[in-house]
Amino acid sequence: MAAATSAVYPGASTVRDGRLAIGGCDAVELAREFGTPAYVMAEDDLRAAARAFRAALAIHHDGPGEVIFASKACPATAVLRLFAEAGLGCDVASGGELHLALKAGFEPARIHLHGNAKSAEELRLAVQAGIGWVVVDNADDIAKLSLVLPEGRRQRVLLRIRPGVDADTHAAILTGHAESKFGLDPREAKAIAADPPAHLDVQGFHFHLGSQLNDPTPYRAAIGVLAGLGDQPVYSLGGGYAVAYTADDRPSGIDASVAAVVEAAHDLLGPGKRLIVEPGRSLVANAGVTLYTVESVKHLPGGARVVAVDGGMSDNPRPMLYDAAYEVCLADRCDAEGEPATVVGKHCESGDVLIRRARLPAARPGDVLVTPVTGAYGHAMASNYNGVRRPPVVFCADGDARAVVRRETYEDLGARDL
Ligand code: PLP
Repeated sequence: MAAATSAVYPGASTVRDGRLAIGGCDAVELAREFGTPAYVMAEDDLRAAARAFRAALAIHHDGPGEVIFASKACPATAVLRLFAEAGLGCDVASGGELHLALKAGFEPARIHLHGNAKSAEELRLAVQAGIGWVVVDNADDIAKLSLVLPEGRRQRVLLRIRPGVDADTHAAILTGHAESKFGLDPREAKAIAADPPAHLDVQGFHFHLGSQLNDPTPYRAAIGVLAGLGDQPVYSLGGGYAVAYTADDRPSGIDASVAAVVEAAHDLLGPGKRLIVEPGRSLVANAGVTLYTVESVKHLPGGARVVAVDGGMSDNPRPMLYDAAYEVCLADRCDAEGEPATVVGKHCESGDVLIRRARLPAARPGDVLVTPVTGAYGHAMASNYNGVRRPPVVFCADGDARAVVRRETYEDLGARDL
């Protein structure tokens, strides 16, 4: 099997005669048709991931349960719509994500509003839309909810706790530790659940430990903390399931991850609970790749080869934020032997490095360069730094490609000018 079809590329990708295709669409042709940089997503991979999560929960948990998409991972309306149609619920963490979730067709009852700094306006929007769940993060959420709820109406809520559990991931995406800015102290949550204010219908507890977690042990520890807070009908156990970014990564996979978390919940919380899992990254990351065009190649005095592309930290800030590692290939020479190279972006910062230890064949300006596993937190975190236009999102399936988000125009860059 050619390198480019390693497990990190979409399942619906192939390499023939060195040419990469995503969802049956030739990557070089896609670059020609939609321009670069472009986020390309294999639609079948998105559906397969949704099915895998629902199946895993149904197989391992015989009580009520729900898979909800943490929309922050890829808040493109078409992605949200696909997951709504695939039977998932939705986690939103702002008024904007709520707006998109409603636009995409999620039933309000299946939307969960998160956030450690919800504004009264965001809570009002949520209440007006009739969303099913507000995940209370702090006492100020409770006070604001009482102001925005109509007289006599109660809001169904989960209480997010800070379980004080460390997990093995980058500090910036660790969220369940004792000093985390997210969630209530467990004792505070216990007290609220035992004697809730009249406007809250407390149904249970929530935690989210962090992202890109390989080891299920911290989930068991956090569920143990929940178990000490009193019996509740609903437990939302967050997301965080790891994906493979490089061929060396060996995440447990969807079924094993869900099985481990559900087993801990059964052991520690007892049977018959409504269990909610809230994956983001693991639903979308491996479905996506980014296409770039090589713009320049330099050979530096020390011997380093620097390949510069037409995007960078504006379409993928993860290497700068978390030292995230990626694979790379040239779209029409995916199976060629590579030599060391550094892939850099076009932005005015020396830290704008996409891949530090890449291996690439001789690259020339005009080549289409591909980085896999950009379906999560790429489109979501894209910026206009240096006045770049944010890239399109292109869905590919069965040899057909369609843009579901267009590339920004230069006019868009001034669209908010007054
Ligand atoms: N749930 C909550 C509350 C989150 O904050 C996040 C991510 O930040 C997620 C779920 C999804 O995490 P991941 O994308 O790692 O699955």
